[in-house]
Amino acid sequence: MTDALEGPTAAGARVDAWRAEGATIGFVPTMGALHEGHLSLVRAAKRRCDRALVSIFVNPLQFAPGEDLERYPRDFDGDREKLASAGCDAVFTATPEEMYPADFSTYVVEDRLSTTLEGASRPTHFRGVLTVVCKLFHVARPDVAFFGQKDAQQALLIRRMVRDLGFRLEVSVEPIVRDPDGLALSSRNAYLDPHERTRALSLSRALGAARAAYDGGERDAAELRAAARSAIESGGVEPEYLEVRDAETLAPLERVTEKALVLVAARVGKTRLIDNAVLGGDAL
Ligand code: AMP
Repeated sequence: MTDALEGPTAAGARVDAWRAEGATIGFVPTMGALHEGHLSLVRAAKRRCDRALVSIFVNPLQFAPGEDLERYPRDFDGDREKLASAGCDAVFTATPEEMYPADFSTYVVEDRLSTTLEGASRPTHFRGVLTVVCKLFHVARPDVAFFGQKDAQQALLIRRMVRDLGFRLEVSVEPIVRDPDGLALSSRNAYLDPHERTRALSLSRALGAARAAYDGGERDAAELRAAARSAIESGGVEPEYLEVRDAETLAPLERVTEKALVLVAARVGKTRLIDNAVLGGDAL
């Protein structure tokens, strides 16, 4: 069974013990409600490192007022069983009070990549993500930290923070795990009723349409976006954004000459979903 450690102090002590043994540590930060996407990160951590450590913390700092903080799905016992099946060595939780004392006033802010796409509609989101990941890195002191391409902008921002602030660890970005019909796994898929789940498939179909156009030789970003837009709209979904961007800087592109990302966000019913695909390469 995966050891459950309560709080950053207990987790830090376990990390100290592992380090004293000379073990390398792979770290997977999560918000719980785990699915195969999360478990693929744990398996990657076990392949690369001696120990796999997971955190489960629903981070209030990355939710804006009116978002789904209170109703975000939580299932610690189920999560722990899934983690055991994936070979996770230990999981730690933390309370908001442990992470953010009452007079907390220091944040990590990136001011370029974080202002576009997800950051445009969720202005304080990435400040919350980077701040918590920075704190979790201090607890876990990993050799390698594992993130999903599913949240591509987040993964790029964390890589940038690690580079800019000189964290001594590697960021590994792992492929998106999907249901057999193409829907990217997400804890928020639990909100979808059967009709909405069918409509949600139009996000991955839109990415498929852009990729098919790219594979057919199309390099004009406006044409790639148009192919994707017509696929998503024919599924009855209006994208919040649907963009073709540079895969490292997220700068808008007119033509795809290097590795690029097609990124989409859309609301299906009340649920906000995101998805993306890499063009001109396999991975981020
Ligand atoms: P979350 O619990 O949603 O904060 O996600 C924790 C980690 O799991 C993040 O690095 C996500 O990008 C990653 N993740 C979420 N969904 C998937 C998926 N479908 N495939 C791969 N990784 C994922």
